[in-house]
Formats: sequence, C-alpha cells, structure tokens
Amino acid sequence: MFKIDLHVHTIFGGDSIIKPDELVSRSRQVGLDAVCVTEHHSYFLSDPYKKIALETGFPIFQGLEYRAQEGHLLIFGLKVEEEDLPPRLPMQWSVNWVHQRGGLAIPAHPFQNGTINGFPGERIFQIKDLLALEALNASLSSQENQQAVQAAAQLGIKGIGGSDAHGPSVLGRAYTLFPSPIRTEEELVQGMTNSTSPTTWTIGSDSLTGRLRFWWPKARPRQAGT
Ligand SMILES: [Zn+2]
Ligand SMILES: [Zn+2]
Repeated sequence: MFKIDLHVHTIFGGDSIIKPDELVSRSRQVGLDAVCVTEHHSYFLSDPYKKIALETGFPIFQGLEYRAQEGHLLIFGLKVEEEDLPPRLPMQWSVNWVHQRGGLAIPAHPFQNGTINGFPGERIFQIKDLLALEALNASLSSQENQQAVQAAAQLGIKGIGGSDAHGPSVLGRAYTLFPSPIRTEEELVQGMTNSTSPTTWTIGSDSLTGRLRFWWPKARPRQAGT
C-alpha cells in the first residue's frame, strides 16, 4: 500500500512552521510514501517542492486548500492561483468550477467545530457531485471525524485522510492508502476518482489519545487501544 498524507501546510504558505527539509525527513520517519502540500489558495506557492522532490527522491505533490463560502475545499490536480478562484465563492459553484477543469474538489474537515472560517456541517448534504469528503483530519477530534465519516456514508461517497499538519509533529497522523504507487498528480486524481478497489480509501490516524482506523466502503469507525 502507498501511504500519502493528502493535507499538509508548510512554511511557504505562511501559517505553518514545517520547513522543506523537515517535511522530507519527518515524512520518511513516520513511514509516509508521499505527501501532498496544500497551501491556502495557491498551487504555485509550493512550486519549490518540485525541485526538492527531485533532489531528495521523496514524492511531494501539490494541491491547494480553498476557502469557499461554506467552508474549505481541498483541490487536487489543478494549478490554481487566488486570481483564478477568489476566496469565499459558493461551495457548489467552486466544486463545479474545479470538476469542469479536470480537478478534484473535496470538502476538508466538513464538521470542524469552533472555526472562525465557517464549516459546512449539515449543509454538506446540499452540495451535489461530490466524489469524496475529508473523513479523517488529524487536527480534529474523533467526534468531528466520525461525523464526517457518517456523512460520507450517507452521501454514498468516499473518504480521504490527511493530517492538516502545520507543524512537523502532526505530519502523517492521518493519511490515505492507495493500492499501488502514485507517481504524478494526474495519477493522484485518477487514484481517487477511478478506483474500484475498496482498499484505496482506507485511511488511518495515530494520535496521542488513541488509535483510529477507518475502512471504506464499509465505513465503521473503530477505536482501539489507548
Ligand atoms: Zn482548512
Ligand atoms: Zn488545512
């Protein structure tokens, strides 16, 4: 299985302390096979990682995290700058815009509580043509994640996992497992959209308080160990 942390912020985005060398060394240390850097509102902010990935031999993909009116979207497979997609547009409009251009838009932390940025919560059920939700975010509580897992099951769509790390210690605490190696951002999108393998969407997290494992499509959150 190929383990990717699909939601990572680094120093280039301005709100994370993860430096490029730490991104690579810590990712290797925690057993990740790749990461996807998702800086806020810009694919291009993480452009330096193209060179760093080549130099280190560690796969680093680029995506972005976009703030729509109702909450955040992770965008994969599309080179987007803030001018292309200004913040706070309606989520449905943004999802359509991304999908029409061949990218993949996935609501991040849909049931996060207490955020000043807003989160969709139950409004997620009104959004059409979603292929997945971020069902496991290592920066949230297990209750917030379980609501997302249940929402994905109710919508009949898949779930992904990512750490939402803004510091090295959080890297790799949640991730998404792919059945075969992912080499390009195109393969990343294909791996998330086309696969029929039930194991593609296995996601997992290790946290300080316990160990969570989620399986998909039979999404049964299980908490084991302490
Ligand atoms: Zn977010
Ligand atoms: Zn984030």
